[in-house]
Amino acid sequence: MIVHAELSCLNCGYDMGDVEGPRGASLNDLIFLPIHQGDRLTTDRRGRFQCPRCGGRILPQGVVPVNRPLDPKSVYEADMTNELTRGLLP
Ligand SMILES: [Zn+2]
Repeated sequence: MIVHAELSCLNCGYDMGDVEGPRGASLNDLIFLPIHQGDRLTTDRRGRFQCPRCGGRILPQGVVPVNRPLDPKSVYEADMTNELTRGLLP
């Protein structure tokens, strides 16, 4: 099952964007759609998402299953042309 979630910081309220991928997937299998260009999805030593602004903990919220998952290839191509801020994880 593919799920979609919104990522925001528990500490400062920073909205990172959306993430999509198989439930329980590892970081590299997730598609991250940042709100702010240049943001990267990073985790701390415990594997929790980390806020790029304050270093606090990012919590996935509003997790819902999606019927039509994003196509990683098209997302990647959009990122390559710089027409969108959306992109795959490095
Ligand atoms: Zn924060």
